[in-house]
Amino acid sequence: MKILIINAGSSSLKYQFMESEGGEVFAKGLCERIGIDGRLTHKVPGREDVKKDIPMPTHSEAIQAVLDIMVDPALGVIASTDEIAAVGHRVLHGGMAFTESCIIDDACIAAIEKCIPLGPLHNPANLMGIRACQAIMPNTPQVAVFDTAFHMTMPPKAYIYAIPYEYYEKDDVRRYGFHGTSHRYVSARAIDMLGNPEHSKVICCHLGNGSSLSAVVDGKCADTTMGLGPLAGFPMGTRSGDMDATILEYLMGRYGYDIKEMLNILNKKSGVLGISGVSSDFRDLDDAAAKGNERAALALEKFIYEVKKFIGAYASAMGGVDAIVFTAGIGENSIDLRRRICEGLEYMGIQMDAEKNNVRGQEVDVSAEGSKVKIFVIPTNEELMIAMDTAALCKK
Ligand code: ADP
Repeated sequence: MKILIINAGSSSLKYQFMESEGGEVFAKGLCERIGIDGRLTHKVPGREDVKKDIPMPTHSEAIQAVLDIMVDPALGVIASTDEIAAVGHRVLHGGMAFTESCIIDDACIAAIEKCIPLGPLHNPANLMGIRACQAIMPNTPQVAVFDTAFHMTMPPKAYIYAIPYEYYEKDDVRRYGFHGTSHRYVSARAIDMLGNPEHSKVICCHLGNGSSLSAVVDGKCADTTMGLGPLAGFPMGTRSGDMDATILEYLMGRYGYDIKEMLNILNKKSGVLGISGVSSDFRDLDDAAAKGNERAALALEKFIYEVKKFIGAYASAMGGVDAIVFTAGIGENSIDLRRRICEGLEYMGIQMDAEKNNVRGQEVDVSAEGSKVKIFVIPTNEELMIAMDTAALCKK
């Protein structure tokens, strides 16, 4: 089935038009500056990228611009929007309501709305994308795929926070976790690469601008590093990761920040950017560290150290590990970071082959001959997962 995938943010909207079986991508692109002015970047494999300024006061004009360019005789890839069999939407927070993807109907929309307090930045934007598609393509089925859903199999000991239990019962405060579609895809690929054993223990390292680890037992998520929101876990590009709450009180007292300003610092100015003062981009940090910038080197060291700690924690939590997966921008591309993360873990049976590790963006086993634990590089494909879920639900 030919599926249009929409990932709507507050002022941007990514799209991809692809085949759910086999994953061929026909076109993809990005609408930016929605609500400001509006710019469309449209990419078709084998053709030159197209950039156009198109007024986009709301997400509706953005979706309309995407559909217009898709059917454009010169720039498009389809003759009519009827060729779009269904639309799959990436939705950030499914709260406790969604353990899997679902067909979008009134009940589904109401449940996504109910999750807005848990995902206050993303869910309203995701809903704008959904509503715009419903208005413009009322007869095309739509499916919501949640970033949180894969993690809903975590046991209570992994998802409960050690604060008064009533906040869980009354207010849904618990660990949810994110990047679920990516963790689901790469863990399934890893289990396949292990030869589909009856039992398996996999640690997935999704390392990108936002990063998270997951512990996956027999294909089901047992734990993950992100929490109620995507700020938790280990340091990321600009996010702090887990914090001692005392620091919030201390800095808010010293500088008079309110909670919004404090959270802005933790979300946008922290992580490896905060430590280095150089950049949130790991390529910039590599360059700066190579030129002797000590804080850039420290930021990288901190990131590696925290990922290593979670690998140890998850191996311990699962009582062993059969495979470690590296995925997303850094995991797929940074040869050096993968090497440094695995360095010193030989005592756990984790042995990397330096030569095999010399790859970027390919699905490969980079573990040394005889390594007890397999180390896989697996390019993530969240879009394919969304397309497959969308097609499967529409066929039902
Ligand atoms: P997002 O979370 O926005 O999807 P990505 O998964 O695309 O992010 O990851 C972006 C990160 O990947 C950036 O920090 C970038 O520096 C890093 N990255 C991409 N290529 C390389 C590379 N060759 N070496 C090191 N880091 C890389």
